Amino acid sequence: MQFYTVIGLEVHSQLLTRTKMFCGCAAIYGAAVNSRACPVCLGLPGALPTPNRAAVEMAVKMGLAVGSTIARKTKFDRKNYFYADLPKGYQISQYDMPLCAGGSIAIRGQFGEKRIGIIRIHLEEDAGKSIHTDIEGTLVDLNRCGVPLVEIVSAPDIASPQEAYAYLQEIRRLVRWLGICDGNLEEGSLRCDANVSVARVGDEPGIPVEIKNLNSFHGVEKALQYEIERQRTALECGETSERRTLLWDADRQETRLMRSKESAQDYRYFPDPDLVELEITDVLLRQTTDALPELPWTRMQRYLELGVKSDDAEVLVAEKDIADYFEAVLKDLPADVPRAARWVVGEALRWRKELGGGERFVAPAQATIDLARLEAEGRISTLAAKSIYEEMARTGRSDPEAIMREKGLEQVKDTEALQKVIYSVIARSQQELNRYLGGEAKLKGYFIGQIMKETRGKADPVVSGKLFDEIIAEMKTD
Ligand SMILES: [Zn+2]
Repeated sequence: MQFYTVIGLEVHSQLLTRTKMFCGCAAIYGAAVNSRACPVCLGLPGALPTPNRAAVEMAVKMGLAVGSTIARKTKFDRKNYFYADLPKGYQISQYDMPLCAGGSIAIRGQFGEKRIGIIRIHLEEDAGKSIHTDIEGTLVDLNRCGVPLVEIVSAPDIASPQEAYAYLQEIRRLVRWLGICDGNLEEGSLRCDANVSVARVGDEPGIPVEIKNLNSFHGVEKALQYEIERQRTALECGETSERRTLLWDADRQETRLMRSKESAQDYRYFPDPDLVELEITDVLLRQTTDALPELPWTRMQRYLELGVKSDDAEVLVAEKDIADYFEAVLKDLPADVPRAARWVVGEALRWRKELGGGERFVAPAQATIDLARLEAEGRISTLAAKSIYEEMARTGRSDPEAIMREKGLEQVKDTEALQKVIYSVIARSQQELNRYLGGEAKLKGYFIGQIMKETRGKADPVVSGKLFDEIIAEMKTD
């Protein structure tokens, strides 16, 4: 039997606002348990919610970045359900008038670029957090209650667990790039539910099964693989698919049944009577559009056009702070873009990974520029420049020229001094010289190598090569 898979993802992304979605409580992670919860968070009688403008702007930003249509009028609805971490008995979300609709995100699929459609992006508030303990049972922390989320709902365009993984990576890069979410999976800033169905080729897609509790991207990939396999086996055994919600158990690496899935009716959505319709004004739309940074794919294209190798370009646009560091270097080295790229990818990023904990550049952009320039001007060999970078990274210094002088790494360009070295190298390499004069052109490399050795790497290879040719030419005319 031949099967195909249809996957849609719902990604919840915690917005980086200072305060919560509908009250003034601080939206911070890691505060003392239940210390950030006011009457609005708790749903106490008489408490009234007020929408957070920054959260609305961030959601609009996300919509604009993926090409959504931004609704000019939108509203908030109550999604009613009972759970211990939801003191109000409902979650404020958006039902039939989401803030953003449509758009798409490109991922690298199995057969090149593939666009995954976005159905909608809407705003909602987070619920509290259940903490399961052995002794006291399950406890509830309400600090997360009311923290703003955007929910990004993809079209069922994803065809494999690998594509799901690539899509999530792209979402993570984008929300971080836009500065609307820190993308921290461990702290739950990005969470994902998946809808997956497997059907026989030629048949209509099956009823999707929802998988919840996916808190890592590899978890999503694994859970989807597991569930696809389970549905295939079920189809082969002649079972029919049914609507249900599964929970991914990361410890046991399997899905288990949570409940048969609720439909929208079960949530009894209705407009929140405490909140008025929200109008997205021209001004807000224009300001948000103006504040949108150059997007990663646009920047990638620009780097390619500037002559950066595609592997390097991809690394440079992986995160916005890397791309911005490169921009700073580029501004001072506009004539030599591939060189600037090589220094940022090869050295700045390497030492950032090794010594900066993967997040902090160990040398300021200006130091990278100064060093790259010393190399470009031929004052220093590439090898020596790399050793200076290491010195800067390890000591926190940012004065490559001073280090160069202290260590005596400046290249010898002095013609007379170099000529002396070349004569002495030739004098003790008579055999090689005869072979070279006899036509073994590749032996020139041997001589240059000897000159380098003699000067401990400080000879300028270009100048040395030229002087060597001159000396040989003289010998021939003699
Ligand atoms: Zn509050």
